[in-house]
Amino acid sequence: MSDSRAQIREEIRAVLETFPHSPKAHVQSFGCQLNFCDGEKYKGILQDLGYELTDTPEEADVILYNACAVRAHAESRVIGRLGALKSIREKNPRLIVGLCGCMAEEEEVRALLRKSYPFVRLVLGAGAMERLPEALLSVYRGEKRHETLQFAGLPDETLPTVRESTFQASVPVMYGCNNFCTYCIVPYVRGRERSRTPEAIEQEVRGLIAQGCREILLLGQNVNSYGRGLETEISFPALLRRLDAIEGDYFIRFMSSHPKDATPELIDTMLSSQHIEHHLHLPVQCGSDRVLKEMNRHYTLETYLKTVDYARSKSPDFGFSSDLIVGFPTETDEDFEGTMRIIEYVKYDNLYTFIYSPRTGTKAAQMEFVSTQEQIAARMSRLLARQREISEEFNKRFLGKQVRFLAEKRDPETGLLLGKTREGLVLEAPGTESDIGRLLDVKVTGVKNWALGGEILRGTNDAE
Ligand code: SF4
Repeated sequence: MSDSRAQIREEIRAVLETFPHSPKAHVQSFGCQLNFCDGEKYKGILQDLGYELTDTPEEADVILYNACAVRAHAESRVIGRLGALKSIREKNPRLIVGLCGCMAEEEEVRALLRKSYPFVRLVLGAGAMERLPEALLSVYRGEKRHETLQFAGLPDETLPTVRESTFQASVPVMYGCNNFCTYCIVPYVRGRERSRTPEAIEQEVRGLIAQGCREILLLGQNVNSYGRGLETEISFPALLRRLDAIEGDYFIRFMSSHPKDATPELIDTMLSSQHIEHHLHLPVQCGSDRVLKEMNRHYTLETYLKTVDYARSKSPDFGFSSDLIVGFPTETDEDFEGTMRIIEYVKYDNLYTFIYSPRTGTKAAQMEFVSTQEQIAARMSRLLARQREISEEFNKRFLGKQVRFLAEKRDPETGLLLGKTREGLVLEAPGTESDIGRLLDVKVTGVKNWALGGEILRGTNDAE
């Protein structure tokens, strides 16, 4: 299509002017943080085209489901949502329904849409978001179904964004993944690694901080390989130092870190920084070297624990969280005992645990299960129960200490603010609505297995 972006926008606006009401669009994102970040861009594009954004699908003229392929469960939810659109479609014949995100990259999903959901007229793959205006225009011009799959490049830096929060922002630093863990579909649906330039990232982060943003979450499938392949290569710690030098009162968080690329330099950078969290999300996935090899993870438990030991030797309070898969097809009871040993040793603050579910197209999906689902469920219960005890015990290290936390929301019934500390721990403390979105000094007065309790130190904080 040769029309320029401006022409496409004008033509869509002309179509929207013929509507008897103000045109509205509804975007719903599913899955990981990166997908939610993409969802903010879809919203920005639609708003720029002249749609008013709505949370109510019933009043929308465009409904976009921005869906994630990583877990089968998320996909089923999206398919369920599509099925439930029947009455909305009957009431609004103008309605355009679209599926975008990495779920749209799967051939079997597109085949299902063609067969059972022909009313889905827009299909945009991950990384094709800037093609939304031309896709919409094609449909308004009469095309029955528009499909664009594209994940090789980087999104246009000038895409408009509608941020969900005024004080927290996600900033992708890279897209795609080169690792091909055998259980994961991401490299197939999001393509190979490509990094944004440090200049573009810094400019975005500076702008957010100038607008009063208090937490920047840097995103990538493997942030530690950030910068490889750029014209002037730069490491992730170097990017962090560059961002940390920006003046202001804010936290920098990031995810995810692949253990094979986490270096002492990364830990040193975090600990010597002004703004970066003192906590690392370092997904170990399993406590068995044999299974890690079958997962194609490219590290051993020994090298993983070296990173943990290094961080704790520099700062005993340094926190870790992890993703853990229970029930990988070849996992035995003995392998699982290794997982239990790892959580005892590392004392994670928090675990994101998943029962393995096969994803079509991955190597692991062809492996035979050596354990029953009952055995796997029992392992998971044991893991969760022990982790709750570990979290509560290890979080006691903060009792009586002063920490800084970002108040993210407040429960009006209890009057408790909920947010996260610089150490990445959930904390709740009594406070007011006006505290939301502020970084506050807090004295830790209590510990639960999922959160710290505290009291805000009034008088030491900003704007007081
Ligand atoms: S590092 Fe592994 S688990 Fe993470 S996105 Fe890449 S392939 Fe998937």
